[in-house]
Amino acid sequence: MHPVNETSAINPTYLEDASGFRGHAERLFVPEDEQGVAEVLLRATRERIPVTISGAGTGVTGGRVPQGGWLISLEKFSRLEIKTGTAIAGAGVLLRDLQAAASATRQFYAPDPTETTACVGGTIGTNASGSRSFKYGATRPHVLALQVVLANGEILHVRRGEAVRFPVPSISIPRSTKHAAGYTLTAGMDWVDLFVGSEGTLGVITEAELKLLPAPETILAGVIFFASDADALDAVDDWRTSAAPRMIEYFDQPSLELLRARFPEIPTTAAAALLIEQELKGEDDPEMRRWLDRMARAKALVDDSWFGTSNADRERFRVFRHSLPEMVNETLRRTGCLKMGSDCAVPLEHNREMVDFYRARLDEKFRGRYVIFGHIGDAHLHVNILPAKEESAQAAEILLEFARKAVALGGTVSAEHGLGKRKAHLLPIQFSRQEIEAMRDVKRRLDPAWILGRGTLFAEKDG
Ligand SMILES: Cc1cc2nc3c(=O)[nH]c(=O)nc-3n(C[C@H](O)[C@H](O)[C@H](O)COP(=O)(O)OP(=O)(O)OC[C@H]3O[C@@H](n4cnc5c(N)ncnc54)[C@H](O)[C@@H]3O)c2cc1C
Repeated sequence: MHPVNETSAINPTYLEDASGFRGHAERLFVPEDEQGVAEVLLRATRERIPVTISGAGTGVTGGRVPQGGWLISLEKFSRLEIKTGTAIAGAGVLLRDLQAAASATRQFYAPDPTETTACVGGTIGTNASGSRSFKYGATRPHVLALQVVLANGEILHVRRGEAVRFPVPSISIPRSTKHAAGYTLTAGMDWVDLFVGSEGTLGVITEAELKLLPAPETILAGVIFFASDADALDAVDDWRTSAAPRMIEYFDQPSLELLRARFPEIPTTAAAALLIEQELKGEDDPEMRRWLDRMARAKALVDDSWFGTSNADRERFRVFRHSLPEMVNETLRRTGCLKMGSDCAVPLEHNREMVDFYRARLDEKFRGRYVIFGHIGDAHLHVNILPAKEESAQAAEILLEFARKAVALGGTVSAEHGLGKRKAHLLPIQFSRQEIEAMRDVKRRLDPAWILGRGTLFAEKDG
């Protein structure tokens, strides 16, 4: 027997995620090595017991929240080895520890979901992205190799380029720059691409080899305020092409109003803001000057905006950005509502149309009780509604409308959070029955007893 801590007295924090969604489980297993994981899965497969894989629980779609059966936590998989250009990280390593260790060698790991207490396994499981994906893409291209334990106890070691051992059809892929809904199936695809974003339904990721990049010499960061929303949206259109920032993040006026409780220094004239980061070759890089020109051209409130090039400045702006979803989640917890947020992205050319659609529908139903913010560089904005508890159904209905609109514009129902259990009903908006059936076929190959991540993405059969 390999070391596996097993208990039925489960700490309730394991039974929920950051969306407030709660579940229950009969047992929690905390294995210390891959053989231990294999033994748990083999037993569960034989006894046909559902197994939910738990990362750090910062997910917002209920993927790691069990609805019965067993829960397996990877928290003991904490190996972390930093090399030049790569890191070997156990599934339980927190992103903030990976980043700190990489930074000590003047390197960085590009994927940056602003929630740095997420763990490596969870971020690979969801194909997480975030602010820096504007330049670097989501987690997927930064994963070089994986160790995965399958439902039958087989331990797979797979590297980039090693093709899946059974035929996989190609299914449609949205035209948005990011996508995290369902399996991204392509004929001839490799194992790594199959497991990234599979949301704990195909195997337990225990360790990953990740790409590290050299840290830039200098980074210019800024929270740039605008007197009108239209000016901010014009600036995004301009800066996407005239500059090469690594992030362009958006805050609408309601977002700034909510943030004011923690950041009273937000200028009173501000109606919108953009957070940018630009990598520079040094403090005298001519790009610094060009940003001043760009901001003047965009009619930004330059004198009231915040800029910096130190790590401390960047951290201050990161905290500012991260405070928004945190404050939304806190507000919802107080009202007893689950998180009511969208994660749609559209092709870049439809960004304005989507923002206008969000705003028109939200002002009709939830005026003064929503925020729109996030990764506008990728035309990927989060709408978070702050409904009264009895309005949850109306909020859910409007989020459905947004998902349909995003798909009609060639986009995705989920760009980074995945669908988990809470948003599994969006999968048929994105994909045809045949495409979902192709995903089921893949799952049956790897998990014929259908034990892993039950309730996430799709059921074994329709209806
Ligand atoms: C305030 C806030 C801000 C956020 N901002 C962002 C953002 O900018 N970008 C973004 O992408 N997300 C964001 N998120 C969502 C969340 O941080 C990500 O979805 C993250 O990837 C979840 O990681 P986790 O370790 O917490 O996973 P969990 O929530 O524990 O699990 C997520 C999913 O991954 C599966 N999983 C976990 N570990 C493994 C494993 N070892 N093997 C296989 N499957 C596994 C689970 O079964 C589940 O389906 C935010 C969340 C919060 C609370």
